Amino acid sequence: MDFRLDRLGTLCIAKPLGWRGPGGNCAIPILMYHSITEEDQAGVRGYYRTATAPHIFTAQMGILKEAGYVTIGLGEAVRRLKESSPDISCSVVITFDDGFRDFYTKAAPVLHEHGFSATVFLPTAYIGDSPCIFKGKDCLTWDEVGELQKQGISFGSHTVNHPKLYGMSFEKITQEVMVSKDTIEQKTGCATESFAYPYAFPEDSSFRKKLRHTLLLAGYKNGVCTTIGRFSAKSDPLFIERLPVNSNDESQFFRSKLQGSYDWVARPQRALKLVRNWMESKRRGEDS
Ligand SMILES: [Zn+2]
Repeated sequence: MDFRLDRLGTLCIAKPLGWRGPGGNCAIPILMYHSITEEDQAGVRGYYRTATAPHIFTAQMGILKEAGYVTIGLGEAVRRLKESSPDISCSVVITFDDGFRDFYTKAAPVLHEHGFSATVFLPTAYIGDSPCIFKGKDCLTWDEVGELQKQGISFGSHTVNHPKLYGMSFEKITQEVMVSKDTIEQKTGCATESFAYPYAFPEDSSFRKKLRHTLLLAGYKNGVCTTIGRFSAKSDPLFIERLPVNSNDESQFFRSKLQGSYDWVARPQRALKLVRNWMESKRRGEDS
């Protein structure tokens, strides 16, 4: 097992002290998966890995089942929090970014076996009539999307081309969020209400405000990003926090994340982004 500061802080400090982020008991964990694969990510630090081995994914779904969790969609999660529903404590949302084909072959059968649903975020340029390659891996086809939809899987937008939206013109951002939404709606015949922000979510309040407006104008009702935490009444429903999961999440760490003991990581994550922003602006100043 790799040494990870976030695991150490979670299991040795936050959990024993009972420290949790916003919401306390009244928050919904939203799990963020990418790829369910045996692929070895040994060269990538544990925190940044996006691959979950099939047997670990199966074990994680078993933990959810055993703990009595029920999977819901993002729209339902928003409703439950708004109404302070008593069902919040057993609710979980499972999300998959990037539309990889291993969702169809490896994740969907396990979800089905456990009676769970999930939301898959599609970068529509990579979803075709035959498998397209994104980040070196096969993506879902529209036929597979249709089949999964019949099994109760929901789909949201992950833009068209999966670009880094931060720094792009809002004209281009509008195209990315609108065209992907239209394409998914045409192919599935269902309204696309959810959006997942690609790459790290920037610490820039004016960008967030403009993006929020753009998403609402395009007709999105909710969305998720890479900010760490659980979904609470303090969250912005367009940029909801998630809990990243990968093969590094053994049962104790996984359970602690669900219970809120990982929420503290949001603070160092934010501080790191602010330092990076500052260094980037300094570098730009020196270049000009
Ligand atoms: Zn992505």
